[in-house]
Amino acid sequence: MLDTDFFRRWMSATAAAVDREADRLTELDAAIGDADHGMNMRRGFNAVCEVLEKEEPATPGAVLTSAGRQLISTVGGASGPLYGTLLRRTGKALGDDAEVTVGQLAAALGTGVAAVAQLGGARAGDKTMLDALLPAVEVLESSFGEAGDAALAGALATVPLRAHKGRASYLGERSIGHQDPGAASAALLVGALAEAGEP
Ligand code: ADP
Ligand code: MG
Ligand code: MG
Repeated sequence: MLDTDFFRRWMSATAAAVDREADRLTELDAAIGDADHGMNMRRGFNAVCEVLEKEEPATPGAVLTSAGRQLISTVGGASGPLYGTLLRRTGKALGDDAEVTVGQLAAALGTGVAAVAQLGGARAGDKTMLDALLPAVEVLESSFGEAGDAALAGALATVPLRAHKGRASYLGERSIGHQDPGAASAALLVGALAEAGEP
């Protein structure tokens, strides 16, 4: 079972990974966007850590809804509302159980990812964060390690794709040959699950 503390560890492991990789995320965004993705993610997840310390949410669902709200209110770029929606909707789907199963988390994350697709209008292969999130959700129930690998593979597989959503899509064909920054950060988020601990 995954308790509230697991979800707090997941958020702080994500914040640490984003902090470590912020320069790389910004470099990826410099190639096909506006060079702010590392900064956006760092600002957002710093704020998430602060709010989780202050509010001490009592359930797994409350940790994620409060993290999501925080991302929406602190990150100006496209990634703020999208990641905010992902976490808020995942949290809402978890309800107010004090502990949840991996199966519940996998289903809830599926709901969150579907909400991201609806909000941003992107589909698999559009060269967005969804290309890391969708394959991760598929295997999350087997193991967090596998989900992290699937997200990473999905992020790397965005290199030859042409962007159809977000700033990178303005480049058209010139977006080909670069990894999508949001897919790279989504792989950090999924990778942080294993750091928070296999159940
Ligand atoms: P901005 O583009 O506003 O500067 P960021 O640089 O923080 O925002 O985030 C860019 C990332 O957001 C992209 O790499 C992509 O993964 C993701 N993204 C942008 N638009 C969409 C969308 N419509 N659907 C899903 N993801 C998107
Ligand atoms: Mg950007
Ligand atoms: Mg921007």
